[in-house]
Amino acid sequence: MATQRTFSIIKPDATRRNLTGAINAKIEAAGLRIVGQKRIHMSKAQAEAFYAVHAERPFYNDLVSFMISGPVVVQVLEGENAVAAYRQVMGATNPADADAGTIRKEFAESIEANSVHGSNSDENAVIEIGHFFTEEEIVG
Ligand code: ATP
Ligand code: MG
Repeated sequence: MATQRTFSIIKPDATRRNLTGAINAKIEAAGLRIVGQKRIHMSKAQAEAFYAVHAERPFYNDLVSFMISGPVVVQVLEGENAVAAYRQVMGATNPADADAGTIRKEFAESIEANSVHGSNSDENAVIEIGHFFTEEEIVG
């Protein structure tokens, strides 16, 4: 069985409400291992680069402003089918559509302030991890 990595961000709405530990508890309960983690305040340039794929979307500028409105916790998660496993724990983008027990159902404030980010493919996980971590900072 393949162990994979995914990239996670605990977003400013969640750090502001002291939910880092509660979110990490859900991550770990799902069998994912937090193998890299740091609390940072993203620069505007970092947030713009990270969300470049959404540059044409109407919510892009607001999303960048939100992501730099406070500290975030960037993480590397490891586990079996990590990308899909984490997206299941996160729940749907819009908390109104998220399943019971998911991070977004329990904690998200809105479709934008939805508490967490998780990669949507193995390829993007590698790219996104590379935005914030060196290999030396990831300890399995
Ligand atoms: P993420 O990429 O953060 O894991 P996702 O893959 O579920 O979430 P995307 O479609 O990639 O969602 O959108 C990225 C982020 O942009 C969302 O998590 C959310 O914060 C914000 N976003 C998405 N759709 C909207 C919208 N309609 N209005 C405002 N913000 C939005
Ligand atoms: Mg996405």
